[in-house]
Amino acid sequence: MFNGILIEKDEQGYRAGYTRLDEAQLPEGDVWVDVAYSTLNYKDGLAITGKGPVVRAFPLVPGIDLAGIVTYSKHPAFNAGDRVLLNGWGVGEKYWGGLAQKARLNGDWLIPLPAGLTARQAMAVGTAGYTAMLAVGALEKNGVTPARGKVLVTGANGGVGSFAVALLARLGYQVVASTGRQEEAEHLRRLGAAEIIDRAQLSAPGRALGKEQWAAAIDSVGSHTLANVCAGLHYQGTVAACGLAQGMDLPASVAPFILRGVTLAGVDSVMRPQADRVAAWARIATLVDGELLNSISREIGLGEVLETADALMDGKIRGRVIVDVNR
Ligand code: NDP
Repeated sequence: MFNGILIEKDEQGYRAGYTRLDEAQLPEGDVWVDVAYSTLNYKDGLAITGKGPVVRAFPLVPGIDLAGIVTYSKHPAFNAGDRVLLNGWGVGEKYWGGLAQKARLNGDWLIPLPAGLTARQAMAVGTAGYTAMLAVGALEKNGVTPARGKVLVTGANGGVGSFAVALLARLGYQVVASTGRQEEAEHLRRLGAAEIIDRAQLSAPGRALGKEQWAAAIDSVGSHTLANVCAGLHYQGTVAACGLAQGMDLPASVAPFILRGVTLAGVDSVMRPQADRVAAWARIATLVDGELLNSISREIGLGEVLETADALMDGKIRGRVIVDVNR
């Protein structure tokens, strides 16, 4: 028996509970993992609270991220004792995920834990940090360099946003952080933000084209915010769009694209090919350090997951939440 979070949906309704699970309940998988740490991402918050249609099979252990040690493997790439990492691939949505002490997985989804990071540190980064790294890559692919000008990060106090601020700053970019939490301005400055703006400036319906303010942007908010970001980019600016914290809609006009040559670059972390993941994680390991990870994250035990998911959905969590599944 082992501890885990289980989401169920039946005639009694949708519910998540902290419970004891039997190994016999674990799904099929060619790699068995003793999970050391998992995390709470926005998507996990949606899954656990039922506020978004994330879970597609019931009952299900949520947790889109995990890091741990292989205990048994029939997969050619992994052996017992290997330290591994998993982000996405539908785990925690369609397949049982990381918020339990044990997991059985398809070995094709796993990558070796990157050199230089502990399992706990990798989970401080998690899907949020890995997505921020992919978003930085999307800007670079479109020719964005520090010399081009300021880069805006929306949802800056969130998981993706915090890492986007820190990674961009460490790569030499001048970062403008947009947040609804001005009381966290000092924290954002410590992460590397040069300027802080109030997210209210971006969240209401705006003009089709505005003043050219930023060379590029990383947006985890969507909706009117993303529309206003597009309208405020420099000529040939780029925005990497990776989230929907304000909404899934995009009430924009084509003006920024056809009059300013703006690029809207989509970022998906879930189905990203393995080679891109390995490269992004290797780069993360060179850009982050223990001090940064401690300042962005805090740790909870598995028993605190349910209440913390509520707080995450209420926008009360700053940065990242690491889950020690063994306490
Ligand atoms: P968090 O909850 O940690 O952060 C979201 C942040 O968005 C909040 O901290 C807040 O920042 C801001 N925000 C929340 N509500 C609103 C609102 N109504 N209007 C404007 N801003 C708002 O989530 P994550 O960082 O984990 O994820 C962010 C988004 O990215 C989510 O939509 C998530 O689903 C998506 N995502 C997508 C991935 C992909 O593969 N494309 C991977 C990972 C995440 P502040 O307090 O600073 O204003």
